[in-house]
Amino acid sequence: MATLEEILELLKGVSDQDKDLVTRAYEFAQEAHKKQKRYSGEPYFLHVSETAKNLAEFGMGAVTISAGLLHDVIEDAEVSKEEMREKFGDEILFLIDGVTKIGKLKYRGVERHAESLRKLFIATAKDIRVIMIRLADRLHNMKTLEHVPAHKRKRIAQETLQIYTPIAHRLGIGRLRGQLEDLAFPYVHPEKYKEVLELRKQKSKETIKRVEKVSKKLKKELAAQKIEVIKTDYRMKHLYSLYKKLLKKDMNIDKVYDIAALRVIVPTVVDCYKALGIIHGIWTPLPGRIKDYIASPKINGYQSIHTTVFTGDGFLVEIQVRTPEMHREAEFGVAAHVSYKNGKILDEKNTTDWVKKILEPFLGGETSGESEQEKAQSVRPAWLSNLIEAQEEVSDPEELLGAIQTDFFDDRVFVFTPNGDVIDLPEGSTPVDFAFAVHTDIGSHMAGAKINGKLSSLETALASGDIVEIVTKNSAHPTPKWLEYAKTSLARRKIRNSISGN
Ligand code: MN
Repeated sequence: MATLEEILELLKGVSDQDKDLVTRAYEFAQEAHKKQKRYSGEPYFLHVSETAKNLAEFGMGAVTISAGLLHDVIEDAEVSKEEMREKFGDEILFLIDGVTKIGKLKYRGVERHAESLRKLFIATAKDIRVIMIRLADRLHNMKTLEHVPAHKRKRIAQETLQIYTPIAHRLGIGRLRGQLEDLAFPYVHPEKYKEVLELRKQKSKETIKRVEKVSKKLKKELAAQKIEVIKTDYRMKHLYSLYKKLLKKDMNIDKVYDIAALRVIVPTVVDCYKALGIIHGIWTPLPGRIKDYIASPKINGYQSIHTTVFTGDGFLVEIQVRTPEMHREAEFGVAAHVSYKNGKILDEKNTTDWVKKILEPFLGGETSGESEQEKAQSVRPAWLSNLIEAQEEVSDPEELLGAIQTDFFDDRVFVFTPNGDVIDLPEGSTPVDFAFAVHTDIGSHMAGAKINGKLSSLETALASGDIVEIVTKNSAHPTPKWLEYAKTSLARRKIRNSISGN
């Protein structure tokens, strides 16, 4: 169980008011869950305290940590919303509500809809902090998955790989992604897990030895050239990411050069490039393996220089060079941008660029001969504009994070078929659009629609999360009236075809 002292310790530097909030939330949750137990037989409160500790470790503020402590009290401990509002205010209630809502979205193993479900997840969350709480919650649930009944484990682990880890990756939280993937791996692919674990074990000893040798020599040379080294260490490749790489290399571990990679952290970007020059002066680089993610960051904002060098004894070692800021961002992603350092938000100016960059693939946008700038402005969603405005006034990380709204899907609705498949439609779509999106035959013979189990009119606008069931009859056919209900061009075209063919 995470103690209150442990959590507060991670929060050092915050105001007494913030400490008081976390303390109240801690004590309230402890009392509210006191009769409940986890599958493991341990007190339920253990789960929420660990969730809160995870959030503190991600660098989140007092409000988010408090919401993490309270995230299950309404759903599982029958505390009323009114009581929560009264005791903890609207903001915390809003966060808990969001956490509960996205907790109800279940992945049903339909892989082709994983992308839609991820979008739905983000759209429903409305606030990045809600996602952070869900991720922290999932991390603890994955750590204790062995206690869950066997028949549920695989589904939960699959959901983690399909929905949660891609979101952690998208938000640039590399550490969390690696942890979640490795926790899920043995439940989803037990045999492969054992195989990869064994392969890594066989190789790791000699690899680490080699990396340490390279590290020693490099540190000496950098010191001689007057480049300060803040830190060197190495990271072992996470098992699941090693597995994915092995799949591309015919499961041949000798073709994987970064089982262990040496990390060198130097003060500035200029030092990074100088260090790269020194590295290549000592060892010959493997052609085609020099990656400058400083000049061209990865889509999730990741920055570093990677190079793989011949160490002279017939082996290869990957070296990654980065600044402390890049390192922090690689580990903590979105959270790194809103954490305090000496009372200032780190990297304040880059936050908007970065958030925009990572979420751009979700935003779409037309490319109709507009300039880059025009394009950027035309696809700029409301949440981004809000963020830009918020940054000008806000110095509190908690507030800034709240400003990173996720309402960029506001013009889409995500609805379910009775089987749990997700259908992605424009806002204002009706059961008519839904029916044709599922299948032409269903649209062409639609006799009625049930929304969330209730018979509903064909002109009802669908809302995200609705479960829609189409009632069909062989004798039913599209009528001109349907054209008034249809919002999508697909449905309108099919209706017209059908009418003119009659
Ligand atoms: Mn929970």
